[in-house]
Amino acid sequence: MGLHVVIVGGGIAGLSTAWYLQQEVAAKGLDITYTVLEEGSRWGGKILTEEVVWGENGRFTIEAGPDAILTQKPWALQLAKQIGLQDALLPTNQLPQQVFVWQKKRPIPMPDGLFLTVPTRLMPFARSPLISPSGKLRMGLDWVIPPRRDAADESLADFVRRRLGKEALDKIAEPMMAGIYNADAEQLSLLATFPRFRELEQKYGSLIRGMLAARRSRKAAGHGRSALTPFVSFTGGMRMLVERLVPMLDGECRLKTGVTAIQPLPDGRYCLMLNTGHALTADVVVLAVPAYVAARLIRPFASEAAHLLDAIRYVSTGTISLAYPIASIKRPLNGFGMVIPRSQNRPINAITCTYLKFNRRAPEGYALFRIFFGGSRHPEMIDLTDIELLTVVQQELALMLGITAEPVLHRIYRWRQGNPQYDVGHLARVDAIEAALPAGLYVTGSPYRGVGVPDCVRQGQETAVRLVQTATQSQLTPLKI
Ligand SMILES: Cc1cc2nc3c(=O)[nH]c(=O)nc-3n(C[C@H](O)[C@H](O)[C@H](O)COP(=O)(O)OP(=O)(O)OC[C@H]3O[C@@H](n4cnc5c(N)ncnc54)[C@H](O)[C@@H]3O)c2cc1C
Repeated sequence: MGLHVVIVGGGIAGLSTAWYLQQEVAAKGLDITYTVLEEGSRWGGKILTEEVVWGENGRFTIEAGPDAILTQKPWALQLAKQIGLQDALLPTNQLPQQVFVWQKKRPIPMPDGLFLTVPTRLMPFARSPLISPSGKLRMGLDWVIPPRRDAADESLADFVRRRLGKEALDKIAEPMMAGIYNADAEQLSLLATFPRFRELEQKYGSLIRGMLAARRSRKAAGHGRSALTPFVSFTGGMRMLVERLVPMLDGECRLKTGVTAIQPLPDGRYCLMLNTGHALTADVVVLAVPAYVAARLIRPFASEAAHLLDAIRYVSTGTISLAYPIASIKRPLNGFGMVIPRSQNRPINAITCTYLKFNRRAPEGYALFRIFFGGSRHPEMIDLTDIELLTVVQQELALMLGITAEPVLHRIYRWRQGNPQYDVGHLARVDAIEAALPAGLYVTGSPYRGVGVPDCVRQGQETAVRLVQTATQSQLTPLKI
């Protein structure tokens, strides 16, 4: 008898686990089958693209969740190529790649060459009005401040304050983390999110020196400019990744099938209770669901792992996309978007100029903006009614971009308890969770070792490889041939 794997959760992590399990099984000729169970009525989880037809030939492509993948992390791109999406890759527009910071009631460009707070080009940074002269001097002290040598974790905010000073934190790192990563820099684990910063600090004694050296060696190796832009999407939006992948899965894939409970069986297998009233038996279970859902499902028989899973904090965030005729924008932002520091006391976290970031997102003559709200900074925003939210956001757009017209369309998406937070100590917590899980049970996806889509794909692949290795080593799986 072969082995049956049940993957719970049809977001990108669960779907990637299924895909790479399928590849392993085919490559090694194993007798393993799988089922994917998704509670919702569509695949993709946070990946959700809406298309709105506009006029004769136009359309708006609106992202509710991720709008791009980071090309520096290759795993989602590799998956896209494997499933034949190579030709559908959509790079960001080359110009204008500028990102702005809302500062003293006006948008100020981030200096060129700034990599997540750290200047990698000195002249644009020296000339930038964003940081005061004393703030720049303080950032320069990074060259001489002795590096931290121990391996202990710390918050991103503590790290930036320690190396680059408070102004760099307030004006760059904090708004980037809140606006782009939905995270609170004061709680965010450095080691779980930007371990390279610590590596550079320890290797070069200074973050800026380390970044400059890395830039020089990339140039020397001829990798100064990649053929791909740092971020890419797909011509029809992020949903293409899901829509192409799901039909290529040869396991059973069931929508509207939530797992309500899991019971270990005396023979080492698991029985999964489904919200359809049925039950399903599995040799191996992969939980690709939020950590608090995994905790609830395993608590009756794995209380320590459940307790650790519950310690992964979540925040609620949302996005609202609004479209306007371009002519109605009195003070357009000539860039991809703007982040808004906490110190500016505004109710929104960031604005993306979707129509400038990517082609094909808005019909000719129209602008499409996406505004991020909620998170640790403004949790109350999530509970506003649609009308209240729209009023607040329109006031912000009037202030920041001079838009007083009514939007021609808007779409609101709320992700309640949707964003796992990698608080200080996160990696140790994840190690402990994995060690505490009973045999035949795996957790994977955004709550653990990377929230971005590429990291979720990588974790799905790693989980599939690990489970096949364990299963074949314990000789649970007779080879077909
Ligand atoms: C607004 C926003 C913007 C983002 N922007 C980007 C970006 O630009 N680039 C990027 O790389 N990443 C971005 N991210 C992060 C990224 O999209 C997510 O981290 C990733 O998609 C999560 O994938 P996942 O499979 O781990 O979880 P999810 O997508 O949350 O999937 C989990 C699935 O499990 C299902 N489920 C839950 N409980 C059960 C149950 N009991 N039984 C069965 N199924 C269940 C859920 O319905 C869901 O479909 C963004 C996230 C958000 C919210």
